[in-house]
Amino acid sequence: MKEWDEFYEILKDPISYGRKMKGQGRKVVGYFCSYTPEEIIYAAGAHPFRVFASGENIHFADAHFQSYCCSLVRGALEGALAGNLDFLGGAVFPHTCDSIQRLSDIWRMNVKGPFHADIVLPVKLDTESAKEYMIDVLKKFRNELASHLRVEITDNKLKNAIDTFNTIRGSLKRLYELKTENPGIIGGSDLYAVVKASMMMDRDHLTGVLPVVIHELEKKKETAKLYAGKRIVLAGGVCNHPDIYRIIEEAGAVVVWDDFCTGSRYFEESVNNNTDPIAAIATRYLERPVCPAKHSGIFTRGENLLKITREKDARGVVFFFLKFCDPHAFDYPYMKEFLDKEGIPSMMFEVEDQLPSEGQMRTRFETFVDMI
Ligand code: SF4
Ligand code: SF4
Repeated sequence: MKEWDEFYEILKDPISYGRKMKGQGRKVVGYFCSYTPEEIIYAAGAHPFRVFASGENIHFADAHFQSYCCSLVRGALEGALAGNLDFLGGAVFPHTCDSIQRLSDIWRMNVKGPFHADIVLPVKLDTESAKEYMIDVLKKFRNELASHLRVEITDNKLKNAIDTFNTIRGSLKRLYELKTENPGIIGGSDLYAVVKASMMMDRDHLTGVLPVVIHELEKKKETAKLYAGKRIVLAGGVCNHPDIYRIIEEAGAVVVWDDFCTGSRYFEESVNNNTDPIAAIATRYLERPVCPAKHSGIFTRGENLLKITREKDARGVVFFFLKFCDPHAFDYPYMKEFLDKEGIPSMMFEVEDQLPSEGQMRTRFETFVDMI
């Protein structure tokens, strides 16, 4: 199916895809975190493009970051300093974890792109003033981007953009649901490819492609035998490792949902398109499952993970973190305790951008899958 080829081509060579978008006259705006208001970028006629670590060895970025920073920020900076991200017409940095904030400072001074924005979102999302503050910050970003691109970002353009992103989010969620209903109809790596490519692909094109993929899977579901293996949930931040899904499947289990910002946190909650568009975008950020770099109640993340695990009928949870990711590491002990109290087994797996040897991972996953 040609749609699958497209997703895999983007994953194989995101840089060529970014350059192709620029070649088509689009301003490509790089972003690093799922708290980036892609709707505003898209409404400005620009193309939001999520930047990941390249997977290459770090040479240039080590002069700016200590080796104990996560491999996502080191790898992204490496890509920029090596000249691979020359197609970017700008970069956007939401105020989230310390590493992203420092990446922004270093980027501003060393990459020096034509447009650079910090979106200083509130950290505490459960206060009375959080929404008002969030709206002001998003309005400021809207004005900065409009003035840089010399375009007007009207409410109508924003509403069209919200429609597009709501459609994409709804489609990605449906794909996840199909996987949950019968995990055998789509491999974890294939689903991963769709979600990751969706963060880089031309969104107009994507809104047409996703329903084709959904239709194919709906048809497959009608005749496919129900998968009877062990079901697990993944939890963490950024997953840039499609091989993980295959190794888990070969160990006798299957991932039925996740709590990743490169997964379900990217598409959960749609934006209400019947009200002021900026206020609606702000509301989604306040209501969607929270990441550990934000705060909306001491146990909110643990409660959400328990809810996912129960709803998806999963037998265990694999915490999957990038090494040196402090926000996730700080939340881990209490989240594990939450699961322990409910008798839900879990394991924790920390990786760099380049995975450890497959044999080592296989042994650990097989042991865990045997146990659950
Ligand atoms: S885990 Fe949170 S701070 Fe880190 S990239 Fe994802 S949304 Fe952003
Ligand atoms: S949340 Fe973690 S993985 Fe994401 S950028 Fe921050 S330190 Fe890195």
